[in-house]
Amino acid sequence: MRIGHGYDVHRLEEGRPCILGGVRIPFPKGPLGHSDADVLLHAVSDALLGAAGRGDIGKWFPDTDSAYLNADSLELLKQIVMNLEQSGFSVSNVDATVLAEAPKIGPYTEEMCRNIATACHVPAERISVKGTTEEGLGFTGTGEGIAAHAVVLLKERGDV
Ligand code: MG
Repeated sequence: MRIGHGYDVHRLEEGRPCILGGVRIPFPKGPLGHSDADVLLHAVSDALLGAAGRGDIGKWFPDTDSAYLNADSLELLKQIVMNLEQSGFSVSNVDATVLAEAPKIGPYTEEMCRNIATACHVPAERISVKGTTEEGLGFTGTGEGIAAHAVVLLKERGDV
């Protein structure tokens, strides 16, 4: 097995679509970024790349490349998983936490898990997405930004 950790932060801006885990959440603010700025999927992507020792999402999909302007991060995640599978890796499980004062993600976590599971070619019960506030503290507490952590396990071909 290989373990990987990912962490990502985006500023929250009025008028931006709020897409988290590939789910569009009705909320007046959304993560600002070059792509759709899906902070959760970026953390998951970085965890997968980290587990495989393949760098990070910024190296794979540079924010200086106009090809990735408003890119669908779920499609980027699918590309990463396909590449890792070609190298003999498969996803075992993913556990992720979104840090935000708002929006509350509870009603959407099942759909987020299904999206990530589909991209990772695993059953949804192998994916976990949780939300937490930071008790009003720091940039997530003020609503200035949103953050996500993810931990993944990859299996390597030949492992028992
Ligand atoms: Mg990001």
